[in-house]
Order: sequence, then structure tokens, then C-alpha cells
Amino acid sequence: DRFISAVSAPVEEQHDRAIRPKTLADYTGQPVVKEQMEIFIHAARQREEALDHTLIFGPPGLGKTTLANIIAHEMGGDIKTTSGPIIEKAGDLAALLTNLEAGDILFIDEIHRLSSNVEEILYPAMEDYQLDIMIGEGPSARSIKLDLPPFTLVGATTRAGSLTSPLRDRFGIVQRLEFYNIEDLTQIILRSAQLSGSKIDEQGAKEVAKRSRGTPRIANRLLRRARDYAEVKGDGVITEDVANLALNMLSVDERGFDHMDRRLLLVMIEKFAGGPVGIDSLAAAISEERDTIEDVLEPYLIQQGYIMRTSRGRVVTDHAYLHFGIDKPDEDQ
Ligand code: ADP
Repeated sequence: DRFISAVSAPVEEQHDRAIRPKTLADYTGQPVVKEQMEIFIHAARQREEALDHTLIFGPPGLGKTTLANIIAHEMGGDIKTTSGPIIEKAGDLAALLTNLEAGDILFIDEIHRLSSNVEEILYPAMEDYQLDIMIGEGPSARSIKLDLPPFTLVGATTRAGSLTSPLRDRFGIVQRLEFYNIEDLTQIILRSAQLSGSKIDEQGAKEVAKRSRGTPRIANRLLRRARDYAEVKGDGVITEDVANLALNMLSVDERGFDHMDRRLLLVMIEKFAGGPVGIDSLAAAISEERDTIEDVLEPYLIQQGYIMRTSRGRVVTDHAYLHFGIDKPDEDQ
């Protein structure tokens, strides 16, 4: 029942099919990424070549998968989707690669989680469209080489820093997605509402946008819950008041923080005197995985200026004390 999570639930996939943008023109926000991708795609199409391999990074829910699908659509190719942890053996990846056709997109989500023997298959595939693989074991083992069609690898990761440098160096295009501003999220919400038949006014959309943590996936989730609320408790229209009441009921506060965000900040304030505190101590104190803190919770709190990373650990800022109305301890004492 969390609003902030790395993956979308199966029921969401269904809703998503109707609202996920399919063209760059429908992809709201991210002006820098959009402008660059428009040019790179146009140029590749003009030369009738595959687009350069593209790495997309950014926190969960910001539109990496959506952008990968848009690239395939705009390039006129098919997309095959997989993810780092799913590909266990080199042979699994080889099977995917040999099934590609010229101009296809291979999308690997969570590409930083590929195992190293699988990753090594990717290097010649990316560089020379060559598959270089060992078949069999022991004395009968032999290596085979196959030509692959020109394809585009699109990799997505929440952390560019976790990629090995040989892999990162083989991407010709690297795009970083930013958190969305309230205007862009408002547009996304109005568009999703229209496509899903939800009734919402401009102020209602803005209110939902403000509480969406800069993240389209969360915006779409909150829109669905606000719609439920409006249909049961109101006349079906999501106005500013209805959005407010619905989101308060869900314990999403006016900054878009949910109980996990508040817990993280409060533990830092109350248990660790505001920090600095190491990530592992923090993970233990709130019983969360370190990865969840680093990939899902922390990026937004840092971007909003509630947490800072220092060489000695995480520290909460004055904003965090103000948010909870707690006096900051006097540093001189
Ligand atoms: P990620 O792969 O980064 O976790 P997704 O691509 O799955 O994120 O996007 C999550 C949801 O947000 C999808 O439902 C998609 O419809 C919506 N979305 C993402 N980016 C945009 C955008 N730029 N404009 C409109 N909707 C978007």
C-alpha cells in the first residue's frame, strides 16, 4: 500500500497501457532529453542506421521504460524488454540477441544488475554487432562467433554510478531524467485523467501534482485514489478540496512525503541527532533495505533539500526540522 515504490503493480500495468505516452510529442517535461533525442532519432533515421546505444538513468517512476518504448516507436523498430536480474546466464542473453532484427531495440532495465559473465557478451555485441560465445564445457567446449543485425541497446538504471566503466563507455547516448516540476506533473495528470475518463479540474490536478514527489508514476497512482474518493464521497469531480481530503486520508502530506519519508527523517532527527549517520545504520534503524533508501527514498529528499550527503554520512537540513516543527539542537552545546 505504499505510494513510493520502485516497481509498478500488475493492476497498474493495465491502467498504464492506456495512458503511457507513445510518442516524444506526448512525453511531457524533460525538455533537454526530449530535444536531444528528437535530433538523434531524426539523424539516425535519415542515415537509415540504428540509433546509438542509449543509457537512461534516474530514480524509479520518472519515465525510463516509457522513453525506451518511445525510442522504438519513433525509430520504427520492435522492442524486446528484459532486465538485469532476469538474465542469469550468458546463453539467455545470446538467445535474446540472436532473435533481434535490424533496427530493433533491446531494452534492459536495471542494467547495473547484470552479472559480469553476461555483461562481457554485451561488449562485442554493442561495439561490432558480434556475438562471441562459448558452447559446451571442458575439452569439447568451442567458441562461436555470429554476426548480429544492427540494433540499439537501451539500458535503464537508477544509478549511473553502479555501472562498470567498460559498459558505460559503450553507450553513445547518455540521458539523465530529472524530477518533474509541478506544471509538468499537472499536465501529465490532466492528460491521464482524460484518457482514463476521470473528472478533475485544473486546481485539483495541481493539488495532486504538488504531492506526487516529482514522479509521474506516483502522480498517476494518486490520481486513481483521488478519483475513488471523489466518486464515493463527492460528486465524482476531483477538485482542490477533494484532492486535499483524499491525499490526507492516504497520509501523503503537503510536501508529497508519505509515512516512510517521514519515518526516515524523524529517525535521523530523533535517533541520530540530525546526523551525520551512515547508510547502513540508517537502514537498520528503519528496517529498510539500503538499496530502497538510496534508490527510492533519498533522491527526492536530497533534491528537495531535506537531506544532504556528506563525506561522514547523511545529515538532515533545517528544512526537515521546520517541516516537523522540531527545534534544532544547539550545535555549540
Ligand atoms: P521508470 O521506467 O523510470 O520506472 P516508467 O517509464 O514506467 O518509469 O513510468 C512510470 C509511469 O509514469 C508510466 O505510467 C508512464 O505512463 C508515466 N510517465 C512517465 N514519464 C512520463 C512523461 N514524460 N509524460 C507522461 N507520463 C509519463
